[in-house]
Amino acid sequence: MKQTTIAAIATAIVPQQGSIGIVRLSGVDAVSIAKQLFQAPGNQQWESHRVLYGYIQQPSTQQVIDEALLLLMLAPRSYTREDVVEFHCHGGIIAVQQVLEACLQAGAELAQPGEFTLRAFLNGRVDLTQAEGVADLVGARSPQAAQAALAGVQGKLASPIRELRQRCLDTLAEVEARVDFEDDLPPLDEAGVQAELQEIHKTLQAILATADQGELLRNGLKVAIIGRPNVGKSSLLNAWCRCDRAIVTDLPGTTRDVVESQLVVGGIPIQVLDTAGIRETEDQVEQIGVTRSHQAAQSADLVLLTIDASAGWTSDDQQLYQAFQDLPMILIINKVDLVPKEQVIYPAAISQVVSTIAAQNQGISSLETAILETVQSQSLQAANLDWAINQRQAAALQKAQAALTHVQDAIADQLPLDFWTIDLRGAIQALGEITGEDITESVLDRIFSRFCIGK
Ligand code: GDP
Repeated sequence: MKQTTIAAIATAIVPQQGSIGIVRLSGVDAVSIAKQLFQAPGNQQWESHRVLYGYIQQPSTQQVIDEALLLLMLAPRSYTREDVVEFHCHGGIIAVQQVLEACLQAGAELAQPGEFTLRAFLNGRVDLTQAEGVADLVGARSPQAAQAALAGVQGKLASPIRELRQRCLDTLAEVEARVDFEDDLPPLDEAGVQAELQEIHKTLQAILATADQGELLRNGLKVAIIGRPNVGKSSLLNAWCRCDRAIVTDLPGTTRDVVESQLVVGGIPIQVLDTAGIRETEDQVEQIGVTRSHQAAQSADLVLLTIDASAGWTSDDQQLYQAFQDLPMILIINKVDLVPKEQVIYPAAISQVVSTIAAQNQGISSLETAILETVQSQSLQAANLDWAINQRQAAALQKAQAALTHVQDAIADQLPLDFWTIDLRGAIQALGEITGEDITESVLDRIFSRFCIGK
């Protein structure tokens, strides 16, 4: 157990917002530091898993800086398995910062990002997949993403990985026994080992297949709405968000800049960029918007090229199409209340087409279906999200698979048993990296540095 005591603000802090802010302490001196700061009137007992009421004072000046609740969680029954104290202070930015400052003055160290969870991992309370689930849960942008993250927190990914690692260990033991005590044991059941490795390989593959889904859930999709001025891009976004974030107007070119909206489609978090009317223009202010929106749209995962049915396919539309045709694209034929979509001629190469009447909120569900088809993810909503692995976990699984393939090759080539054991150990190590049984400090640093402070 580490000897230092760490402190951090555990809640999001926003000026003038949030009725409660939490400052958290963890470590051997958490209770003594808390006792220096916290005055609990009456005879309230400092017992584990009890809430105390009182005042927090500056240790140097004794000035009262907040009226708060204190939650005491003594080791090992805490998030970190160390003594943990939480001050439930008033929200906003001042009270929590002063309380944090007071903790530091009383001897605590400022926690690094993810250090509470790192301690939980180092003290054996969670494994690495659970720790990563915690970060994913905090970062989740859709209920489905949260569900998959929570499954990770609950250890649903860790258990099959541990089981596979154990099976590799058992196989290794069988093989090594033959290396060490060849004469005393019956011969190795090579076919049995082959079959077992094949089974493990297959299960690894099934877990790996969730990587794309995990990526979508975690990072979501960036979708850009592009089109000439006045085709109805802002109206489309408004209909989609059912809110009024973008300005809707009859004047071409008033959506001067990129407006971003966050949506969720079939469980996938979607960031929509509504771009200014992309076209050559003399207007300086608009010009800036045009350039920025061009760049923004080029970084999208999916482009919604919007046209006006009543104008048909214009040469400007053609130019936009050519500029973005390397990106996955859906053609939106808007204003089909004015001209039916059958009358609109567009390049045959565009396979995904949706017609909308943005001004009347019509066509949005077809648009969402088309988006899900494009990312081939209709099943996400219905999927049983027991886990959705991340890139680090996928890389380790691939390493394990490659090692197992080597073992299978070694068996097929009738190489000596020593060769089998080298790669079996490689597979065991790769699987151990996922749960954290075999892990280096630099990998830990990389994982925990993406956490927020106070988690
Ligand atoms: P943007 O410049 O592409 O963002 O276009 P806007 O969303 O500002 O829309 C331009 C004009 O077209 C506005 O007057 C909208 O009310 C109108 N408009 C948008 N969608 C439709 C539609 O589906 N049908 C009709 N008839 N008008 C629409």
